[in-house]
Amino acid sequence: MKHYDYLIVGAGLFGAVFAHEKTKIGKSCLVIDKRPHIAGNIYTEKENDINVHKYGAHIFHTSDKEVWDYVQQFTEFNNFVNSPVAVYKDELYNLPFNMNTFSKMWGLKTPEEVRKKIESQKLDLNGQEAENLEQQALSLVGPDIYTKLIKGYTEKQWGRDCKDLPASIIKRLPVRYTYDNNYFNDRFQGIPVDGYTVIVEKLLEGSEVRLNTSYQEFKNSAADEGIFWEKLLYTGMIDEYFDYTLGHLEYRTLKFETEYLENEDNYQGVAVVNYTEREIPYTRIIEHKHFEFNKCKGTYITREYPSEWTPGAEPYYPVNNERNNELFAKYNELAQKEKDVIFGGRLGGYKYYDMDKVIRAALDCVRDNL
Ligand code: UDP
Repeated sequence: MKHYDYLIVGAGLFGAVFAHEKTKIGKSCLVIDKRPHIAGNIYTEKENDINVHKYGAHIFHTSDKEVWDYVQQFTEFNNFVNSPVAVYKDELYNLPFNMNTFSKMWGLKTPEEVRKKIESQKLDLNGQEAENLEQQALSLVGPDIYTKLIKGYTEKQWGRDCKDLPASIIKRLPVRYTYDNNYFNDRFQGIPVDGYTVIVEKLLEGSEVRLNTSYQEFKNSAADEGIFWEKLLYTGMIDEYFDYTLGHLEYRTLKFETEYLENEDNYQGVAVVNYTEREIPYTRIIEHKHFEFNKCKGTYITREYPSEWTPGAEPYYPVNNERNNELFAKYNELAQKEKDVIFGGRLGGYKYYDMDKVIRAALDCVRDNL
């Protein structure tokens, strides 16, 4: 017979932070994950001396000092600053939208000239909130930038017309009247020097971990094996937990095509290049070695292809439109009624979280469930 204080479903960042905090205060945790490795989507693997981000680019950034200090306990971070480049047909632009982008687009030099240009083009919402992503983009930067750098990228990323997407998605993208290519506005930024997996390994020290174990199967066999737990933390898909009884929530999935280029040392000169035209089927190519200023021979590149999630695929992004948010609210009502079950993380909370927000939510969750 084995008796645990917590069964934690999902060995990703949320589950691992929760497990770490609980084991620290003497609780016993069994962590299960259906994949053959820990760390969920932040999983990195060292191949040919390069840390490869197996599930797409993960760049840690935060303005939350407590979270930044928290992660320093487990690893050292390098001084990587994300400065992606966008390619539209044969034109190349800096991101996020800043003076470098604007001067390339319109041949202008000063913030004043750019302000006037955007002012003359942009959609006036008359003080109203944007109703959808298209309106939000047109009111922020006008049609030139929208057409070349937003519309195609967004429609392939989300598989929906920009008029059918919530404005909130694009609110993530800063617009700057300075020559500053730093993608994020946050105070702290970097990549763990030995990759992300090490952080999760350290977080899970003291917990028992079972891989290749899906909760749906485990819950039926655990009692036969003599395994019991007091409380459950579930970080999988909330609709799956309830056997989709209210219907399916929608997610986007990603397909990654990774290539090792043995005879190429520097394929694209930057970690992230976005392909913003609709006709190119992938949204971006990442070159992993540039996340860590790695000068080794050879390079890994990954093309990222988004598509609609279907059962069996990995869910990456919740599609937080009205229909799904309403359905999630109903699942959440059921979740509140589940005794001794906590839901957390991007899939349990159906929320488009960055890594720092996941850690913050996990720490708050621990405090709320002492
Ligand atoms: N976006 C865009 N053009 C770009 C990059 C981003 O229009 O070149 C929009 C797009 O709608 C995307 C959103 O900004 O869904 C957020 O992009 P980001 O790269 O920040 O999100 P990630 O996929 O990395 O979480």
